[in-house]
Formats: sequence, structure tokens, C-alpha cells
Amino acid sequence: MCGIVGFTGVNPASPILLDGLEKLEYRGYDSAGIAVISDGKIGTAKTVERIRNLIDKTDGGKAVPGSIGIGHTRWATHGGPSETNAHPHLSGNRKFAVVHNGIIENYVELKEKLIKEGHIFASETDTEVVPQLLEKYYDGDLLGAVAKVTSMLEGSFALGIVCTDYPETLVAAKKFSPLIIGCGKGENYIASDVTALISHTRDVIYLEDDTIAVISKDDVNLYDYNKNPVKYDVSHIDWDIAAAEKGGYDYFMMKEMCEEPRAIRQTVDSRIKNGSVVLEDISLTAEDLKKINRISIVACGSAYHAGIVGKYVMEELLRLPVDVDLASEYRYRNPITDSKTLTIIISQSGETADTLAALKEAKARGSRVLSIVNVVGSSIAKASDDVIYTWAGPEIAVATTKGYTTQLSVLYLFAIWAAEQLGTQSKETLAEITESLHNLPNAIDRVLDSKEKIKKMAKHCVDSQSLFFIGRNIDYAVALEASLKLKEISYIHSEAYAAGELKHGTISLIEEGRTVIALVAQEDLFDKMLSNVKEVRARGAYVVACANEGDTAIEAEAEEVIYIPKVHKLLRAAVEIIPFQLYAYYVAEYKGLDIDKPRNLAKSVTVE
Ligand code: GLU
Repeated sequence: MCGIVGFTGVNPASPILLDGLEKLEYRGYDSAGIAVISDGKIGTAKTVERIRNLIDKTDGGKAVPGSIGIGHTRWATHGGPSETNAHPHLSGNRKFAVVHNGIIENYVELKEKLIKEGHIFASETDTEVVPQLLEKYYDGDLLGAVAKVTSMLEGSFALGIVCTDYPETLVAAKKFSPLIIGCGKGENYIASDVTALISHTRDVIYLEDDTIAVISKDDVNLYDYNKNPVKYDVSHIDWDIAAAEKGGYDYFMMKEMCEEPRAIRQTVDSRIKNGSVVLEDISLTAEDLKKINRISIVACGSAYHAGIVGKYVMEELLRLPVDVDLASEYRYRNPITDSKTLTIIISQSGETADTLAALKEAKARGSRVLSIVNVVGSSIAKASDDVIYTWAGPEIAVATTKGYTTQLSVLYLFAIWAAEQLGTQSKETLAEITESLHNLPNAIDRVLDSKEKIKKMAKHCVDSQSLFFIGRNIDYAVALEASLKLKEISYIHSEAYAAGELKHGTISLIEEGRTVIALVAQEDLFDKMLSNVKEVRARGAYVVACANEGDTAIEAEAEEVIYIPKVHKLLRAAVEIIPFQLYAYYVAEYKGLDIDKPRNLAKSVTVE
């Protein structure tokens, strides 16, 4: 995820690009740049600091003259944050400049081929293959070259392109990543979202996938990859500026929940090749894995809960013992670890102070460290032996949603990959789980479709003082995260309990009307859970159950049931948490709370 902006008109482009980038900065901000055509040449300016720095550096844009250009604020996926890796990227002959949002999954093979043909690459990004390919295929026909190149790209992209031979034409193309065209009078724009456009125009065209836009100051034409014209509608936006930044959602948290299917696709798809998991990002080999006799997962908060899911999944698939530790406990416990332990560190921001300290502790004792991090070039990423990035895009809401489900996705990928390396599972079993992992986003989409139903259900607990989440096995791990979500943003106390543990004490807290949310998505434990549900009902509990579609027997024992689409049982946490992210959200909304900024909390906890 990142911000793209583009302009063609008669006014100076740079100030408009810089202003647009500032508005888009919330989408990614590790570096930024602009490219503007003037006198048949492309001028650029870049920074690894905030957009403010780019504005100062270019004297408000005056240093980069011209009235057509593109800009980008980056959220790095391939290659750390640096000026060389910052967009726009230029072709070797400096005829083309390109900005890109997304991931080009087949860039390695495209790049290798281009290098053999003599193209010289400046950056480590996946993006740079685009201008180089444009140079290769361009024969004077700009639309033809863009159609040829975009049809070769796999993965996701929104592209903004300028070419010195067409000094008034802005070209855009899109597949999976968002891009809109803003229609002005005698000037036109492109942008990743309406935030960047709303001060200039409210008339926009939502570019469809596999479509190319050829835009001049007075005209917009859309084409398919065969250069056939495509019809379009112009929509009028009536959002206010604050809503625009959130893509029309009231809160970032809702926006980020709705982004979960896309974030997981982005994290998973490029790592599944011909039905198998391929982890090109890491140097850990099958031989290294075979020397390991234990896995130790260390994290805080929701990442810790993701780690608990990881424990269930990895122990099942790898038959290796897996411990999960809270980083703040681990670091002061004189932890037992050595070169036979693989330490897996999980942190969305990559800057969590306790987790970073635990990482150093593990390394000092000889353990190899693999981290699961969302921010490229973050401190944890830098300090680790290997990193598998979640490609969730920036997460703004304090309560994590897509950060957590993409962490689960990486844990699943790693577990499948490691099981294959260690030969602990049959090819068929791994193929079945991999296929289900690939389909996770569709299942999540279906849960998101039942938002309204969950909203109605959430009303019941608005005045509750306290409630329980219960589950067994992976459902218990989900209960921990579901309970945290509710506590974090609705300020309602809740306990997550292993269902079989209730009778060892806390069942004394169950009384008439107490809401108990029972997670019943593990078929092997369905009957056991049913008994636990009966136990709490017999003491007056109001039971809300979450079960797999088709497991209707639970209806006789629960006041309300949320059904989730059935995915492979080891992967269920990623689907099962979604109703409870939504549930927590709606309870907080009913209570009129500031959902994105819950009291006393901060997004990335860089203090002890
Ligand atoms: N994959 C590209 C890069 O790492 C684009 C990332 C983005 O969307 O900001 O440069």
C-alpha cells in the first residue's frame, strides 16, 4: 500500500503533486518522490524523510518545473527505504518514469531477463522492471507499450506513467491496487484515493482492473489490454475531507477490517507457486531446520495471540515443541534457548521495544531469529537473521485487525513450508492446507458480508459489565484475541477461558444473564464444547456461539449463532476472529467511543 498521485494541465505540477502526497502520507511514508516533465526531460526529487522535507527540498515544488508529473509516497515491500528505492523509477534511457503501488510477483524472472539483455537496474524494487520493460517494448506507440507490459505483469499494481515523447499525456493502469482518475477543467489527475483530489475536483472515475487510462488535460480515454476502448462513468464524491482520508469509512479500523481479504492475498499469493509454499525471502534451509529441536515464539499483545495460534498449527504440522512467550516476561526470565532453538519474533511495527529486547536476548544465547514484521527496514527486521514480511499495508487504527490476520497467514505459510522441508506431513495434506490458505480471503469476504447481522448482535452486550469468551484448542487462541479486541476498544471487561478450565474456578462468575461467547469451530471438540455450553447455560448464561456453517446442532444451545465458512481446521482462526473484530467495533460504536484511538493506548509500543 502506498500513495500515488499524478497531474496533467497547464499549472505547475509539482505543488499539486506534493500537496496530494501530503494527503496520502497516511498510506505509507518511508520515502517519497516526484517526477515532472519539462523541456522534454524528466526531473525528479526524492526523500527518505516525510513529504514536508520534499516540499522544503524543492522550494515548494519550484525546483522541479513542468505541468505534467507523477508522485509517490512509498510503503516499501521490495528493498528497504532509501532514495534509490524511492519512486518514481526511470527507464535506462530516461524516457519513462513510473510510480507503482502493489507487488509485481514475477519481477525476479522479468528482471533477470532484462539484465541479460543489457538493462541496468538502479534499485532493489520490483517496480523498476516496469520502466525497463516500457523502454524495451516502446516503438513510438505509448498505449501499445503499456498494454504489452501490463499484460506481462503478475501480482497487483496501480501504475502512473509519464513518457517524454508524450509531454501532455499521463497514463495509468491497474490490477487489484486502487486507482482513481480526477476530472477537472483543463486539467486531470490520478490518485490512490479521493483524499488527494478532493480539494481540486469531486468528479472521479474509478478505474477497473485490467484497464489502461490515457489522460490529457482535456480528455480521458480508457482501453483494455487489446487497445479496445472501454466505457466509463464519472461519479460525484460528496464526502467531507476527514471521511475521504478513511476511504469513506467512519474509522480506520473498519477500513482495515474491510482490507483484510486483500492484505492476506497480498501476503500469501506470491508465496504459493504451483500449489506449494515457496519462501524466497528467507535464507533458512531444510538442513538448518533439521538441526532445530524446538521453536520459541516471542511477541506482545495481539501478536502474542497470533503466536499461540502458531503453536497449535506448528506442533500439529511439524511435531516439534513450540513455546510462546510474552516478550516482556521472556526478557527478564533468564530464558533457556540455544542454537537448536528457532526463535520466531512477531511484531506489526517491527519497533515494539519489549520484543526487540527479547530478540537480542535470544540472539545473544545463540538462537537463530526469524521475524514476522509488517514494516520493511524496521529495527526488528534489521536485527533478525530472516524476515518474512506481512504485506498488510500501513495499519493506522490502534486495535490491530489486518496486522493480526496477516501475521496468522505468515505463520501458516511458514508451518506448511517447514513441514514440507522436514517431511513431517504428506504432500496431499500440505496441498490441501495450501489450497485452503489460498482461499482464506474469499471466506473472510463472506464474513464481512454479514456485518449488519453482527452489528445487531453486538447491541446485546453494550451495557454488560463483563463477559466470557470460551473455546478449546485454536478456538481458545481466538478467544484470547477476541476478548482483547473487545477490551481495547469498548472498555468492557471480558475473560478468555479455555472451555475445559471453567469448572476449575471461574464458573462461579457465571450468573443469570452473563453473556458467554462460545467459539465452537473445531469439529473434533464439538461435543466437548457443547457440554461446556450446557454447563454455563444451566447457570443462566446468555450464549452467543460461533460455529462452522452446517453445524446447526449448536442452535438448540445458544441464544444467537454466528456461522463462519468452513476452511481447513488449522487455518480457522483467521476467519473466526473476523466476527469478533466487527463485534468489538460495533459495541464501541454503540457506546460512542473513539474507535481508532482507544484511551491510554498507542499504536506501536516503543517503550518498555
Ligand atoms: N513494491 C513496490 C516497492 O516496494 C511498491 C510498494 C508500495 O506500494 O509502496 O517499492
